[in-house]
Amino acid sequence: MYKPQNKNKKRNEVKQCYFCTNDIEVFDFKDVALLKNFLTHQYKIASRSRTGNCSKHQRQVANAIKRSRIAALLPFTQHQR
Ligand SMILES: [Zn+2]
Repeated sequence: MYKPQNKNKKRNEVKQCYFCTNDIEVFDFKDVALLKNFLTHQYKIASRSRTGNCSKHQRQVANAIKRSRIAALLPFTQHQR
């Protein structure tokens, strides 16, 4: 099967997981400044291809963001007019 190649993707650039490289193990849903790095500008959870996290840490980030949303530390969405 023919599979079109993504020419926009930079092949040499390898993204590394932020938490693996910095040896961060404990996740805190109250650390809003850290979690904001893994949100899009509309406060959605950014995908792995965007953040470069490994699957283990991406899951932990997503759970921490969901917890902080329920604790009203982060918004669910941002309304645009
Ligand atoms: Zn990781």
